[in-house]
Amino acid sequence: MGDPIYILGAGPAGMAAAYRLNQLGFSVVVVEREEKVGGLAKSIQYQGFILDYGPHRFFTKILPVRELWDQVLESEQVTVRRLTRIYYRKQYFQYPIQAWEVLRKVGWWESLHIVLSYLWAQLIPRPAPQNFADWVKGKFGTRLFQMFFEGYTEKLWGIPCTEISADWAAQRIKGLSLGQAIQKALGWNRSLAKSLIDQFQFPRLGSGQLYEKMQEYLLAEGQKVLLNTEVVTLRHRGSQVVELQLRNLQDGSETWVSPSHVISSIPLTVLVQSLRKLPPPQVLQAARNLRFRNTVLVYLIVQGSQLFPDNWLYINDPTVGVGRVTNFANWSPAMLPNQEQTPLCCEYWCNFGDPLWQAPEEELLALAEKELRQIGLLHDQKIYSGFVVRLPRTYPIYTGSYKEDLAILQEYLSQFENLQVVGRYGSFKYNNQDHSLLMGLLAAENILRPGSHNLWQVNSDDDYQEEIKVPSSPLTIQR
Ligand SMILES: Cc1cc2nc3c(=O)[nH]c(=O)nc-3n(C[C@H](O)[C@H](O)[C@H](O)COP(=O)(O)OP(=O)(O)OC[C@H]3O[C@@H](n4cnc5c(N)ncnc54)[C@H](O)[C@@H]3O)c2cc1C
Repeated sequence: MGDPIYILGAGPAGMAAAYRLNQLGFSVVVVEREEKVGGLAKSIQYQGFILDYGPHRFFTKILPVRELWDQVLESEQVTVRRLTRIYYRKQYFQYPIQAWEVLRKVGWWESLHIVLSYLWAQLIPRPAPQNFADWVKGKFGTRLFQMFFEGYTEKLWGIPCTEISADWAAQRIKGLSLGQAIQKALGWNRSLAKSLIDQFQFPRLGSGQLYEKMQEYLLAEGQKVLLNTEVVTLRHRGSQVVELQLRNLQDGSETWVSPSHVISSIPLTVLVQSLRKLPPPQVLQAARNLRFRNTVLVYLIVQGSQLFPDNWLYINDPTVGVGRVTNFANWSPAMLPNQEQTPLCCEYWCNFGDPLWQAPEEELLALAEKELRQIGLLHDQKIYSGFVVRLPRTYPIYTGSYKEDLAILQEYLSQFENLQVVGRYGSFKYNNQDHSLLMGLLAAENILRPGSHNLWQVNSDDDYQEEIKVPSSPLTIQR
Protein backbone atom coordinates (compact mmCIF):
# COMPACT_ATOMS: atom_id res chain seq x y z
CA MET A 1 0.00 0.00 0.00
CA GLY A 2 1.25 3.54 -0.77
CA ASP A 3 1.71 6.46 1.61
CA PRO A 4 -1.41 7.52 3.50
CA ILE A 5 -3.37 10.69 2.93
CA TYR A 6 -2.76 13.20 5.72
CA ILE A 7 -5.68 15.27 6.94
CA LEU A 8 -4.57 18.34 8.89
CA GLY A 9 -7.15 19.34 11.54
CA ALA A 10 -9.96 17.21 12.98
CA GLY A 11 -12.77 19.77 12.72
CA PRO A 12 -15.87 19.15 10.56
CA ALA A 13 -13.97 19.61 7.27
CA GLY A 14 -11.09 17.29 8.20
CA MET A 15 -13.30 14.62 9.75
CA ALA A 16 -15.68 14.58 6.78
CA ALA A 17 -12.74 14.16 4.40
CA ALA A 18 -11.26 11.34 6.49
CA TYR A 19 -14.62 9.61 6.89
CA ARG A 20 -15.36 9.68 3.17
CA LEU A 21 -11.82 8.70 2.15
CA ASN A 22 -12.05 5.69 4.44
CA GLN A 23 -15.32 4.72 2.76
CA LEU A 24 -13.60 5.07 -0.60
CA GLY A 25 -10.89 2.66 0.51
CA PHE A 26 -7.99 5.03 1.15
CA SER A 27 -5.66 4.96 4.10
CA VAL A 28 -5.75 8.19 6.15
CA VAL A 29 -4.01 9.81 9.09
CA VAL A 30 -5.77 12.71 10.82
CA VAL A 31 -3.48 15.13 12.66
CA GLU A 32 -5.05 17.34 15.33
CA ARG A 33 -3.32 19.65 17.78
CA GLU A 34 -6.14 19.52 20.37
CA GLU A 35 -6.89 16.56 22.63
CA LYS A 36 -10.35 16.07 21.11
CA VAL A 37 -11.81 15.97 17.61
CA GLY A 38 -14.53 18.37 16.36
CA GLY A 39 -12.64 21.67 16.01
CA LEU A 40 -14.89 24.64 16.74
CA ALA A 41 -17.86 22.26 16.74
CA LYS A 42 -16.46 19.99 19.47
CA SER A 43 -18.22 19.35 22.77
CA ILE A 44 -16.47 19.57 26.12
CA GLN A 45 -17.27 18.14 29.54
CA TYR A 46 -17.46 20.17 32.76
CA GLN A 47 -18.82 18.91 36.07
CA GLY A 48 -20.96 16.37 34.26
CA PHE A 49 -22.34 18.90 31.74
CA ILE A 50 -21.77 18.46 28.00
CA LEU A 51 -21.14 21.91 26.52
CA ASP A 52 -20.53 23.17 23.00
CA TYR A 53 -18.54 26.17 21.84
CA GLY A 54 -21.59 28.47 21.77
CA PRO A 55 -24.71 27.48 19.83
CA HIS A 56 -24.24 24.88 17.10
CA ARG A 57 -27.53 24.52 15.33
CA PHE A 58 -27.57 21.65 12.85
CA PHE A 59 -29.32 22.99 9.82
CA THR A 60 -28.47 22.51 6.17
CA LYS A 61 -29.90 22.78 2.70
CA ILE A 62 -27.12 20.53 1.38
CA LEU A 63 -28.46 17.01 0.86
CA PRO A 64 -25.14 15.10 1.07
CA VAL A 65 -24.46 16.75 4.43
CA ARG A 66 -27.90 15.84 5.75
CA GLU A 67 -27.29 12.25 4.61
CA LEU A 68 -23.90 12.23 6.31
CA TRP A 69 -25.43 13.38 9.62
CA ASP A 70 -28.06 10.63 9.46
CA GLN A 71 -25.54 8.00 8.44
CA VAL A 72 -23.13 8.79 11.28
CA LEU A 73 -25.53 9.72 14.07
CA GLU A 74 -28.30 7.24 13.26
CA SER A 75 -30.72 7.28 16.22
CA GLU A 76 -28.43 9.50 18.35
CA GLN A 77 -30.38 12.62 17.35
CA VAL A 78 -32.99 14.63 19.20
CA THR A 79 -35.41 17.23 17.91
CA VAL A 80 -34.77 20.63 19.48
CA ARG A 81 -37.41 23.33 19.52
CA ARG A 82 -35.87 26.52 18.23
CA LEU A 83 -36.38 29.75 20.12
CA THR A 84 -34.04 32.67 19.58
CA ARG A 85 -34.56 36.28 20.57
CA ILE A 86 -32.74 39.55 20.20
CA TYR A 87 -32.13 41.88 23.12
CA TYR A 88 -32.56 45.46 21.92
CA ARG A 89 -33.27 48.58 23.95
CA LYS A 90 -33.95 46.67 27.14
CA GLN A 91 -36.49 44.39 25.43
CA TYR A 92 -36.43 40.91 23.97
CA PHE A 93 -37.74 40.51 20.42
CA GLN A 94 -38.70 37.18 18.93
CA TYR A 95 -36.51 36.01 16.10
CA PRO A 96 -37.99 35.81 13.49
CA ILE A 97 -39.63 39.10 14.36
CA GLN A 98 -43.39 39.06 15.01
CA ALA A 99 -45.26 42.06 13.59
CA TRP A 100 -47.52 42.54 16.59
CA GLU A 101 -44.55 42.44 18.92
CA VAL A 102 -42.57 45.01 16.95
CA LEU A 103 -45.54 47.35 16.85
CA ARG A 104 -46.25 46.91 20.53
CA LYS A 105 -42.65 47.26 21.65
CA VAL A 106 -41.18 49.92 19.38
CA GLY A 107 -44.40 51.88 18.99
CA TRP A 108 -46.18 53.27 15.96
CA TRP A 109 -43.78 56.16 15.43
CA GLU A 110 -40.74 53.87 15.19
CA SER A 111 -42.70 51.40 13.04
CA LEU A 112 -43.60 54.18 10.64
CA HIS A 113 -39.95 55.20 10.55
CA ILE A 114 -38.97 51.60 9.65
CA VAL A 115 -41.55 51.37 6.86
CA LEU A 116 -40.68 54.75 5.34
CA SER A 117 -36.97 54.07 5.45
CA TYR A 118 -37.55 50.66 3.84
CA LEU A 119 -39.68 52.19 1.07
CA TRP A 120 -37.05 54.89 0.50
CA ALA A 121 -34.38 52.20 0.07
CA GLN A 122 -36.58 50.35 -2.44
CA LEU A 123 -37.56 53.41 -4.46
CA ILE A 124 -34.23 55.22 -4.77
CA PRO A 125 -31.82 53.36 -7.06
CA ARG A 126 -28.33 52.97 -5.59
CA PRO A 127 -25.00 51.90 -7.03
CA ALA A 128 -23.79 48.36 -6.28
CA PRO A 129 -23.00 48.19 -2.54
CA GLN A 130 -19.33 48.38 -1.68
CA ASN A 131 -19.60 47.51 1.99
CA PHE A 132 -21.83 45.81 4.56
CA ALA A 133 -23.56 49.04 5.66
CA ASP A 134 -24.54 49.95 2.08
CA TRP A 135 -25.71 46.40 1.36
CA VAL A 136 -28.03 46.21 4.36
CA LYS A 137 -29.33 49.78 4.02
CA GLY A 138 -30.07 49.15 0.36
CA LYS A 139 -31.99 46.00 1.09
CA PHE A 140 -33.82 46.86 4.31
CA GLY A 141 -33.55 50.62 4.82
CA THR A 142 -31.38 52.72 7.12
CA ARG A 143 -33.61 52.41 10.19
CA LEU A 144 -33.59 48.61 10.28
CA PHE A 145 -29.85 48.70 9.70
CA GLN A 146 -29.36 50.99 12.69
CA MET A 147 -31.70 49.02 14.92
CA PHE A 148 -30.76 45.43 14.32
CA PHE A 149 -27.53 45.21 12.33
CA GLU A 150 -25.09 48.02 13.04
CA GLY A 151 -24.33 47.61 16.75
CA TYR A 152 -24.28 43.81 16.77
CA THR A 153 -22.16 43.55 13.62
CA GLU A 154 -19.59 46.07 14.84
CA LYS A 155 -19.36 44.22 18.16
CA LEU A 156 -18.73 40.98 16.32
CA TRP A 157 -16.13 42.26 13.87
CA GLY A 158 -14.58 45.13 15.83
CA ILE A 159 -14.59 47.44 12.79
CA PRO A 160 -17.18 49.86 11.34
CA CYS A 161 -19.80 48.29 9.06
CA THR A 162 -18.52 50.52 6.26
CA GLU A 163 -15.19 48.61 6.38
CA ILE A 164 -16.78 45.15 6.16
CA SER A 165 -17.07 43.74 2.66
CA ALA A 166 -20.54 43.51 1.14
CA ASP A 167 -19.66 39.86 0.36
CA TRP A 168 -20.17 38.94 3.97
CA ALA A 169 -23.72 40.29 3.95
CA ALA A 170 -24.46 38.59 0.66
CA GLN A 171 -23.09 35.29 1.97
CA ARG A 172 -24.67 35.30 5.43
CA ILE A 173 -27.79 37.43 5.25
CA LYS A 174 -29.17 36.45 1.89
CA GLY A 175 -31.06 33.38 3.10
CA LEU A 176 -31.57 34.34 6.72
CA SER A 177 -32.10 37.85 7.80
CA LEU A 178 -33.79 39.89 10.34
CA GLY A 179 -34.87 42.22 7.59
CA GLN A 180 -36.56 39.40 5.69
CA ALA A 181 -38.20 38.24 8.86
CA ILE A 182 -39.52 41.72 9.48
CA GLN A 183 -40.64 42.00 5.87
CA LYS A 184 -42.43 38.69 6.23
CA ALA A 185 -44.00 39.63 9.54
CA LEU A 186 -45.18 42.93 8.14
CA GLY A 187 -46.55 41.17 5.12
CA TRP A 188 -43.91 42.45 2.69
CA ASN A 189 -42.34 39.13 1.95
CA ARG A 190 -44.38 35.98 1.57
CA SER A 191 -41.47 33.53 1.21
CA LEU A 192 -40.16 32.66 4.61
CA ALA A 193 -36.47 31.75 4.48
CA LYS A 194 -36.10 28.05 5.12
CA SER A 195 -33.62 28.63 7.93
CA LEU A 196 -36.23 30.30 10.09
CA ILE A 197 -37.78 26.96 10.93
CA ASP A 198 -38.80 26.39 14.50
CA GLN A 199 -37.10 23.07 15.20
CA PHE A 200 -33.96 21.24 14.22
CA GLN A 201 -32.24 17.88 14.67
CA PHE A 202 -29.28 17.80 17.02
CA PRO A 203 -26.85 15.13 18.30
CA ARG A 204 -28.08 13.77 21.65
CA LEU A 205 -24.74 14.38 23.35
CA GLY A 206 -23.81 17.77 21.86
CA SER A 207 -22.53 18.90 18.48
CA GLY A 208 -19.19 17.17 19.00
CA GLN A 209 -20.85 13.75 19.14
CA LEU A 210 -20.97 13.74 15.33
CA TYR A 211 -17.19 14.01 15.12
CA GLU A 212 -16.54 11.63 18.01
CA LYS A 213 -18.63 9.02 16.20
CA MET A 214 -16.65 9.61 13.01
CA GLN A 215 -13.45 9.16 15.03
CA GLU A 216 -14.76 5.86 16.48
CA TYR A 217 -15.63 4.69 13.00
CA LEU A 218 -12.18 5.60 11.64
CA LEU A 219 -10.36 3.89 14.52
CA ALA A 220 -12.51 0.77 14.13
CA GLU A 221 -11.48 0.68 10.48
CA GLY A 222 -7.78 0.80 11.43
CA GLN A 223 -7.24 4.44 10.44
CA LYS A 224 -5.13 6.79 12.56
CA VAL A 225 -6.24 9.91 14.43
CA LEU A 226 -3.21 11.60 16.03
CA LEU A 227 -4.40 13.96 18.78
CA ASN A 228 -2.20 16.49 20.62
CA THR A 229 -0.13 16.59 17.46
CA GLU A 230 0.66 19.75 15.55
CA VAL A 231 1.70 20.15 11.95
CA VAL A 232 4.79 22.34 11.99
CA THR A 233 6.27 22.28 8.49
CA LEU A 234 5.24 21.15 5.00
CA ARG A 235 8.22 20.46 2.76
CA HIS A 236 7.57 20.58 -0.97
CA ARG A 237 9.39 19.68 -4.17
CA GLY A 238 8.06 20.78 -7.55
CA SER A 239 4.29 20.35 -7.57
CA GLN A 240 4.24 17.94 -4.63
CA VAL A 241 4.13 18.29 -0.86
CA VAL A 242 6.62 15.56 0.00
CA GLU A 243 7.06 15.66 3.78
CA LEU A 244 5.29 16.90 6.88
CA GLN A 245 6.91 17.68 10.18
CA LEU A 246 4.66 16.72 13.10
CA ARG A 247 5.21 17.68 16.74
CA ASN A 248 3.77 15.71 19.62
CA LEU A 249 2.56 18.43 22.00
CA GLN A 250 2.72 16.13 25.03
CA ASP A 251 6.35 15.07 24.87
CA GLY A 252 7.73 17.56 22.33
CA SER A 253 9.01 14.82 20.01
CA GLU A 254 9.09 15.55 16.27
CA THR A 255 8.74 13.23 13.29
CA TRP A 256 8.79 13.60 9.51
CA VAL A 257 6.19 11.69 7.51
CA SER A 258 5.51 11.27 3.78
CA PRO A 259 1.95 11.92 2.59
CA SER A 260 0.50 10.81 -0.75
CA HIS A 261 -1.95 13.73 -0.52
CA VAL A 262 -2.64 16.45 2.05
CA ILE A 263 -6.03 17.93 2.93
CA SER A 264 -5.46 20.92 5.20
CA SER A 265 -8.03 22.62 7.42
CA ILE A 266 -5.47 24.45 9.58
CA PRO A 267 -5.56 28.26 9.26
CA LEU A 268 -4.68 29.19 5.69
CA THR A 269 -2.35 31.93 6.91
CA VAL A 270 -0.46 29.44 9.11
CA LEU A 271 -0.28 26.83 6.35
CA VAL A 272 1.32 29.25 3.89
CA GLN A 273 3.93 30.30 6.44
CA SER A 274 4.69 26.64 7.29
CA LEU A 275 5.71 25.77 3.73
CA ARG A 276 9.39 25.06 3.04
CA LYS A 277 10.79 26.46 1.05
CA LEU A 278 8.92 29.59 1.99
CA PRO A 279 6.65 31.13 -0.66
CA PRO A 280 7.74 34.40 -2.37
CA PRO A 281 7.49 37.63 -0.31
CA GLN A 282 4.25 38.84 -1.96
CA VAL A 283 2.53 35.56 -1.04
CA LEU A 284 3.73 35.77 2.56
CA GLN A 285 2.58 39.39 2.69
CA ALA A 286 -0.86 38.40 1.40
CA ALA A 287 -1.07 35.75 4.14
CA ARG A 288 -0.12 38.33 6.77
CA ASN A 289 -2.78 40.72 5.48
CA LEU A 290 -5.62 38.25 6.12
CA ARG A 291 -7.05 38.69 9.60
CA PHE A 292 -9.26 36.61 11.85
CA ARG A 293 -11.32 37.73 14.85
CA ASN A 294 -11.04 35.79 18.13
CA THR A 295 -13.78 34.55 20.46
CA VAL A 296 -13.75 34.35 24.25
CA LEU A 297 -16.36 31.99 25.70
CA VAL A 298 -17.32 32.48 29.34
CA TYR A 299 -19.27 29.55 30.80
CA LEU A 300 -21.29 30.01 33.98
CA ILE A 301 -23.07 27.30 35.95
CA VAL A 302 -26.11 29.05 37.35
CA GLN A 303 -28.56 28.10 40.10
CA GLY A 304 -32.02 27.01 38.94
CA SER A 305 -33.68 25.66 35.85
CA GLN A 306 -35.82 27.31 33.18
CA LEU A 307 -33.95 30.62 33.43
CA PHE A 308 -35.19 31.59 29.96
CA PRO A 309 -36.64 29.53 27.13
CA ASP A 310 -34.24 30.41 24.27
CA ASN A 311 -31.55 28.16 22.78
CA TRP A 312 -29.53 31.33 22.40
CA LEU A 313 -30.01 35.11 22.48
CA TYR A 314 -28.40 37.86 20.42
CA ILE A 315 -27.42 40.80 22.63
CA ASN A 316 -27.73 43.93 20.52
CA ASP A 317 -26.81 46.45 23.21
CA PRO A 318 -23.70 48.67 23.17
CA THR A 319 -23.61 49.00 26.98
CA VAL A 320 -22.48 45.40 27.42
CA GLY A 321 -19.64 43.48 25.75
CA VAL A 322 -21.42 40.13 25.56
CA GLY A 323 -22.74 39.42 22.06
CA ARG A 324 -24.55 36.11 22.35
CA VAL A 325 -25.71 33.90 25.22
CA THR A 326 -26.37 30.17 24.84
CA ASN A 327 -28.55 28.26 27.29
CA PHE A 328 -27.59 24.58 27.09
CA ALA A 329 -30.58 23.58 29.22
CA ASN A 330 -32.68 24.12 26.09
CA TRP A 331 -30.82 21.76 23.76
CA SER A 332 -30.59 18.04 24.45
CA PRO A 333 -31.65 16.89 27.97
CA ALA A 334 -28.85 14.29 27.89
CA MET A 335 -26.30 17.13 28.06
CA LEU A 336 -27.33 17.97 31.65
CA PRO A 337 -26.43 15.93 34.75
CA ASN A 338 -29.14 17.57 36.88
CA GLN A 339 -32.16 19.88 36.68
CA GLU A 340 -31.09 22.23 39.47
CA GLN A 341 -28.35 24.03 37.55
CA THR A 342 -28.21 25.71 34.15
CA PRO A 343 -25.06 26.08 32.06
CA LEU A 344 -24.83 29.35 30.13
CA CYS A 345 -22.18 30.40 27.61
CA CYS A 346 -21.46 34.11 26.99
CA GLU A 347 -19.65 35.01 23.78
CA TYR A 348 -17.23 37.94 23.51
CA TRP A 349 -15.28 38.84 20.39
CA CYS A 350 -11.87 40.52 20.29
CA ASN A 351 -8.45 40.73 18.65
CA PHE A 352 -5.17 39.32 19.94
CA GLY A 353 -3.94 42.61 21.43
CA ASP A 354 -7.22 43.56 23.16
CA PRO A 355 -7.42 43.67 26.98
CA LEU A 356 -10.30 41.17 26.84
CA TRP A 357 -8.09 38.53 25.19
CA GLN A 358 -5.49 38.92 27.95
CA ALA A 359 -7.93 39.32 30.89
CA PRO A 360 -7.62 36.81 33.76
CA GLU A 361 -10.33 34.19 34.11
CA GLU A 362 -11.81 35.62 37.36
CA GLU A 363 -12.23 39.01 35.68
CA LEU A 364 -14.07 37.49 32.72
CA LEU A 365 -16.33 35.40 34.96
CA ALA A 366 -17.23 38.52 36.98
CA LEU A 367 -17.82 40.54 33.80
CA ALA A 368 -20.20 37.95 32.32
CA GLU A 369 -22.13 37.66 35.59
CA LYS A 370 -22.45 41.45 35.90
CA GLU A 371 -23.63 41.84 32.29
CA LEU A 372 -26.20 39.03 32.51
CA ARG A 373 -27.68 40.70 35.57
CA GLN A 374 -27.59 44.10 33.84
CA ILE A 375 -29.66 42.88 30.88
CA GLY A 376 -32.10 41.09 33.15
CA LEU A 377 -31.24 37.53 32.14
CA LEU A 378 -30.16 36.77 35.70
CA HIS A 379 -31.67 38.14 38.88
CA ASP A 380 -30.61 36.84 42.28
CA GLN A 381 -29.58 33.36 41.13
CA LYS A 382 -26.30 32.13 42.54
CA ILE A 383 -23.38 31.36 40.20
CA TYR A 384 -21.84 28.05 41.30
CA SER A 385 -18.77 28.02 39.09
CA GLY A 386 -17.48 28.78 35.62
CA PHE A 387 -14.57 28.70 33.26
CA VAL A 388 -13.25 30.44 30.15
CA VAL A 389 -12.26 29.14 26.71
CA ARG A 390 -10.23 31.39 24.41
CA LEU A 391 -10.61 30.56 20.72
CA PRO A 392 -8.12 32.22 18.40
CA ARG A 393 -9.02 32.91 14.75
CA THR A 394 -12.73 32.03 14.80
CA TYR A 395 -14.03 34.54 12.23
CA PRO A 396 -12.27 35.32 8.94
CA ILE A 397 -12.60 39.10 8.54
CA TYR A 398 -13.82 40.13 5.09
CA THR A 399 -12.27 43.57 4.99
CA GLY A 400 -9.73 45.69 3.12
CA SER A 401 -7.94 43.90 0.31
CA TYR A 402 -8.91 40.43 1.56
CA LYS A 403 -10.21 39.29 -1.85
CA GLU A 404 -7.02 40.21 -3.67
CA ASP A 405 -4.89 38.69 -0.90
CA LEU A 406 -6.92 35.49 -0.97
CA ALA A 407 -6.60 35.33 -4.75
CA ILE A 408 -2.79 35.54 -4.43
CA LEU A 409 -2.81 32.59 -2.01
CA GLN A 410 -5.22 30.58 -4.19
CA GLU A 411 -3.02 31.13 -7.21
CA TYR A 412 0.14 30.17 -5.34
CA LEU A 413 -1.36 27.03 -3.77
CA SER A 414 -2.84 25.85 -7.07
CA GLN A 415 0.65 24.71 -8.15
CA PHE A 416 0.55 21.85 -5.60
CA GLU A 417 -1.14 18.83 -7.12
CA ASN A 418 -1.46 16.86 -3.89
CA LEU A 419 -2.57 19.66 -1.53
CA GLN A 420 -6.17 20.82 -0.99
CA VAL A 421 -7.30 23.42 1.52
CA VAL A 422 -10.73 23.13 3.14
CA GLY A 423 -12.77 24.62 5.99
CA ARG A 424 -13.40 27.81 7.85
CA TYR A 425 -9.81 28.45 8.92
CA GLY A 426 -8.38 26.44 6.09
CA SER A 427 -9.87 28.32 3.17
CA PHE A 428 -10.62 31.62 4.94
CA LYS A 429 -14.37 31.29 4.52
CA TYR A 430 -17.10 32.15 6.99
CA ASN A 431 -18.38 28.57 6.95
CA ASN A 432 -21.00 26.90 9.04
CA GLN A 433 -20.49 23.22 9.79
CA ASP A 434 -22.37 22.16 6.68
CA HIS A 435 -20.09 24.14 4.33
CA SER A 436 -17.01 22.69 6.00
CA LEU A 437 -18.44 19.17 5.90
CA LEU A 438 -19.23 19.56 2.22
CA MET A 439 -15.73 20.82 1.48
CA GLY A 440 -14.31 17.76 3.24
CA LEU A 441 -16.53 15.39 1.26
CA LEU A 442 -15.65 17.06 -2.02
CA ALA A 443 -11.93 17.09 -1.25
CA ALA A 444 -12.15 13.32 -0.75
CA GLU A 445 -13.94 12.93 -4.09
CA ASN A 446 -11.23 15.01 -5.73
CA ILE A 447 -8.63 12.46 -4.69
CA LEU A 448 -10.64 9.67 -6.28
CA ARG A 449 -11.38 11.72 -9.39
CA PRO A 450 -8.90 14.62 -9.59
CA GLY A 451 -10.32 18.00 -10.52
CA SER A 452 -13.98 17.01 -10.18
CA HIS A 453 -14.89 19.80 -7.71
CA ASN A 454 -13.83 23.39 -7.27
CA LEU A 455 -13.74 23.74 -3.50
CA TRP A 456 -13.50 27.53 -3.60
CA GLN A 457 -17.09 27.61 -4.89
CA VAL A 458 -18.52 26.08 -1.73
CA ASN A 459 -20.19 28.79 0.40
CA SER A 460 -19.67 31.28 -2.42
CA ASP A 461 -22.23 30.00 -4.83
CA ASP A 462 -25.56 28.76 -3.44
CA ASP A 463 -26.61 27.05 -6.62
CA TYR A 464 -23.33 25.18 -6.78
CA GLN A 465 -23.66 23.65 -3.33
CA GLU A 466 -27.36 22.91 -3.56
CA GLU A 467 -27.02 21.15 -6.88
CA ILE A 468 -23.95 19.23 -5.89
CA LYS A 469 -24.28 15.46 -5.86
CA VAL A 470 -21.93 13.52 -3.66
CA PRO A 471 -22.63 9.79 -3.56
CA SER A 472 -23.67 8.90 -0.02
CA SER A 473 -22.27 5.39 -0.31
CA PRO A 474 -18.76 4.53 -1.44
CA LEU A 475 -18.17 4.68 -5.19
CA THR A 476 -15.49 2.02 -5.15
CA ILE A 477 -13.81 0.13 -2.39
CA GLN A 478 -10.15 -0.22 -3.19
CA ARG A 479 -9.19 -2.44 -0.27
C1 LIG B 1 -19.28 30.43 18.70
C2 LIG B 1 -19.54 29.67 17.42
C3 LIG B 1 -20.84 29.32 17.07
C4 LIG B 1 -21.11 28.61 15.90
N1 LIG B 1 -22.38 28.25 15.60
C5 LIG B 1 -22.63 27.44 14.56
C6 LIG B 1 -23.95 26.95 14.27
O1 LIG B 1 -24.91 27.28 14.96
N2 LIG B 1 -24.10 26.10 13.21
C7 LIG B 1 -23.06 25.72 12.45
O2 LIG B 1 -23.25 24.90 11.53
N3 LIG B 1 -21.81 26.20 12.65
C8 LIG B 1 -21.57 27.04 13.69
N4 LIG B 1 -20.30 27.51 13.93
C9 LIG B 1 -19.26 27.25 12.93
C10 LIG B 1 -18.62 25.88 13.04
O3 LIG B 1 -18.10 25.66 14.31
C11 LIG B 1 -17.50 25.88 12.01
O4 LIG B 1 -18.02 26.19 10.75
C12 LIG B 1 -16.82 24.55 11.88
O5 LIG B 1 -16.36 24.07 13.10
C13 LIG B 1 -15.66 24.72 10.91
O6 LIG B 1 -15.07 23.48 10.71
P1 LIG B 1 -13.61 23.39 10.08
O7 LIG B 1 -13.25 21.96 10.06
O8 LIG B 1 -13.61 24.16 8.84
O9 LIG B 1 -12.67 24.20 11.08
P2 LIG B 1 -12.38 24.01 12.63
O10 LIG B 1 -13.59 23.50 13.34
O11 LIG B 1 -11.84 25.29 13.08
O12 LIG B 1 -11.27 22.89 12.64
C14 LIG B 1 -9.92 23.10 12.33
C15 LIG B 1 -9.08 22.17 13.19
O13 LIG B 1 -7.70 22.35 12.85
C16 LIG B 1 -6.94 22.21 14.04
N5 LIG B 1 -5.61 22.81 13.83
C17 LIG B 1 -5.31 24.12 13.67
N6 LIG B 1 -3.98 24.28 13.48
C18 LIG B 1 -3.44 23.06 13.50
C19 LIG B 1 -2.10 22.56 13.33
N7 LIG B 1 -1.07 23.36 13.09
N8 LIG B 1 -1.91 21.22 13.41
C20 LIG B 1 -2.96 20.37 13.64
N9 LIG B 1 -4.23 20.79 13.81
C21 LIG B 1 -4.47 22.11 13.73
C22 LIG B 1 -7.80 22.93 15.07
O14 LIG B 1 -7.42 22.58 16.39
C23 LIG B 1 -9.20 22.47 14.68
O15 LIG B 1 -9.56 21.29 15.36
C24 LIG B 1 -20.03 28.25 15.07
C25 LIG B 1 -18.71 28.61 15.41
C26 LIG B 1 -18.46 29.31 16.57
C27 LIG B 1 -17.05 29.70 16.92
